[in-house]
Amino acid sequence: TKGAILVAGGAGYIGAHCSKAVAEAGFTPICYDNLTTGHRGFVQWGPLVVGDIADSIKVADTIRQYDVQAVMHFAASSAVGESVADPQKYYLNNVAGSLGLLQGMREAGCGRLVFSSTGAVYGNAGRDPIPESAAGPTVNPYGRSKYMIEQILSDYRAAYGFSATALRYFNACGADASGLIGELRDPETHLIPRALMAILGHVPDFAIFGTDYETPDGTAVRDYIHVDDLAGAHIAAIARLLEGHPGGAYNLGTGSGYSVREIVDAIRNETGEQVPLIYRERRPGDPPVLVADPRRAAQELGFEAGRSDLGSIIRSAWAWHQKAHPRIARQTGVS
Ligand code: UDP
Repeated sequence: TKGAILVAGGAGYIGAHCSKAVAEAGFTPICYDNLTTGHRGFVQWGPLVVGDIADSIKVADTIRQYDVQAVMHFAASSAVGESVADPQKYYLNNVAGSLGLLQGMREAGCGRLVFSSTGAVYGNAGRDPIPESAAGPTVNPYGRSKYMIEQILSDYRAAYGFSATALRYFNACGADASGLIGELRDPETHLIPRALMAILGHVPDFAIFGTDYETPDGTAVRDYIHVDDLAGAHIAAIARLLEGHPGGAYNLGTGSGYSVREIVDAIRNETGEQVPLIYRERRPGDPPVLVADPRRAAQELGFEAGRSDLGSIIRSAWAWHQKAHPRIARQTGVS
């Protein structure tokens, strides 16, 4: 193959989709995952090393063993509401964990990283769409933990000659057409999977969080991006680092926002099913509007959100939730 890519968090939702893309691009994905939220059954395109990113010695050993050329880092806690309630978990898993990974990379002499960042680095963006230059004024511990890591990466770039690309995902969603992988969390907190699970009777209390935002219909607006489009951007980012590019920060989104209500309506149209729902207060930490300006990623990474129309997103996620998800959830013990 073209070489080994260490995929930290490769047993999770986005990490598994990117592992498949890594294999399809001619590399060998080496999944490095502690399986606290990842799924052994999602590791299908290369070997699995069960380990923690905080364990720098194990990270270094794995990089040497497989002659790893570059690292993709998806291993993180990622629920905004939980980060408000339990910030320590986010600073330990995300910030301290990433430092362990970086230390292991330095020890083993691997200085190329593609990092999973987030639109949450923009806080209450205030601008729509939001350019990369607006990062920093975060409004929840999740976004802060990711922005701290981005700043650490800038320092590593300056001091140690690391090359690092931070990919700021907006709202990742959808599933691979194979039906082999998709969103599978316990508890599930994200909008599209929760709404689909509500139709299937797996979520008894699906709610729209907040109807009093200053948005056209009062519900929060987000930029939904298909996980296959994210995966394509990761391959482009890795290719650039391997060519000697120093990296940078890129938004990955479509540039178009949809409200929670518009998403629920689109789900009803695509599935032909009513989404049983109630209304709740705003969820702590949620900004009203987050929409990417995707032009830098388009220009420099050749990024295209070709599969991120709502129909493609919802149909692929619905296929996963109807068929594969319940079976894999039984196998993996996820309720
Ligand atoms: N949301 C909701 N009900 C849910 C889950 C999410 O109304 O059961 C809203 C949430 O408040 C936010 C949007 O949907 O405005 C997207 O939330 P999600 O958790 O999917 O992603 P986030 O934007 O937090 O990364």
